[in-house]
Amino acid sequence: MTTSIWQHAHRKHETVYDVIVVGGGIVGCSTAYWLRRRQPSLDVAIVEADTLGAGASGRNAGFVVQGTDVDFLSDIERYGRRAARRLWHFTRDNRDLLSSELHTSTFGWRSDGSLTVAATEAENQRLQDCVPRLRAAGAPVVHLDADKTNARLRASGFAGSLFVTTGAVVNPLRLVHHIAAESGADVRTQHPVEALDDGEPGVTLRTPHLRLRADQAVLAMGASLPSLVPSLRSFAQPMRAQMLSTQAAERQHASVPIYSHGGAFYVRQLEDGMVLAGGGRHSHTEAEATATDATTPAVQAAIERYLHRHFPWTQAMPIERRWSGTMTFSPDGRPVVGPVPGLPGSVFATGFTGHGMGYGFRMGRLLADLVGGKSQPDGYDLFSADRFDPDGPTSDTQPRSHPSSPSTSAQNRHSSSQ
Ligand SMILES: Cc1cc2nc3c(=O)[nH]c(=O)nc-3n(C[C@H](O)[C@H](O)[C@H](O)COP(=O)(O)OP(=O)(O)OC[C@H]3O[C@@H](n4cnc5c(N)ncnc54)[C@H](O)[C@@H]3O)c2cc1C
Repeated sequence: MTTSIWQHAHRKHETVYDVIVVGGGIVGCSTAYWLRRRQPSLDVAIVEADTLGAGASGRNAGFVVQGTDVDFLSDIERYGRRAARRLWHFTRDNRDLLSSELHTSTFGWRSDGSLTVAATEAENQRLQDCVPRLRAAGAPVVHLDADKTNARLRASGFAGSLFVTTGAVVNPLRLVHHIAAESGADVRTQHPVEALDDGEPGVTLRTPHLRLRADQAVLAMGASLPSLVPSLRSFAQPMRAQMLSTQAAERQHASVPIYSHGGAFYVRQLEDGMVLAGGGRHSHTEAEATATDATTPAVQAAIERYLHRHFPWTQAMPIERRWSGTMTFSPDGRPVVGPVPGLPGSVFATGFTGHGMGYGFRMGRLLADLVGGKSQPDGYDLFSADRFDPDGPTSDTQPRSHPSSPSTSAQNRHSSSQ
């Protein structure tokens, strides 16, 4: 294809912002929101390869639950009591901020609690053991025995459950769009960032049709982070998750989000009776450690078997849609945040290990604080990539603060959205 002089000049033109967020998922959009919330004069762009919410943030089940991918006892075992409590409170803050900062009616917010359901007596015992520990941490939880659990869900075969009163659900795609709109950022979709360089000062970014410059960049690119910064690969193990949904139905039996079998399966019924279910990758972990967007008969069959066995009322409900999405898992189950190697002042976030909706909005605030010059914002020590550095914190970990007034060169911005 030939290139006109106008197109050529347009591609050479450099658009300048104070901060560029790469990735229009829950984490990127939330970071843009908090940047502007902290400093309204900042000129912020969200640069997205596809459309807002094209990645995992627009493909998930919409659970906004507290804690990590495992039960609280396991968190105490792997991180210690204090860190486990702080992680729980971080995710609780996330939930509270979503409901206090945003217009919840625009994204289907419901906070009627969540259930972690046990498949076996041993799992149930663990959930029971979590109760005093969670209550001591200030978490509002109630244990339900097998009869109460199965009766509540019109389910069969569950050994008990833990009800957390502060669990919530959202329409995740609408949430991402709402946060992006509220952020006031310049949203640039269909612009995959292909290269990232130290702009001395600042950072320069290149997409097929744009040249961009900013004082700082925030990389919130989900599973694509290693394609731009290969040295961060170990923090972002790609992991595919598959889901399905049934046709709508007259009755709603399961009104709260349900995790079961140690998080291996999850179920949610929408208000119109449609059932969403996902998981089933535990027997296929090697095949599912991929960023390829595809469903597989084996995992889809596992989800259906689970659904039909435990929720017999779903057996007559035809499956309407099947899909997948890619998440990133971190080496220790906690998200990973840190400076981008070679780009002083720029930061990345990855490794949300299946719970990005539980962390994302609050994590955006942490990232905005980092970019804004706070070297140790509340919670940073829980997520800092330094924990994987055998030599301890590096000198590169101090984020560079952006200037307190917007970049003068930001006036060069294009007014067209591309
Ligand atoms: C099926 C499924 C169910 C899930 N269920 C839940 C749930 O119920 N609750 C929960 O808490 N979590 C859930 N998760 C996990 C959750 O969705 C993720 O942890 C979260 O969405 C991660 O958000 P993110 O913003 O980091 O990444 P993403 O949502 O993946 O966003 C990254 C964005 O960056 C863009 N991008 C990539 N490369 C580039 C580039 N070069 N240039 C510009 N843009 C780029 C992508 O297009 C994408 O839009 C689920 C995940 C899946 C897949």
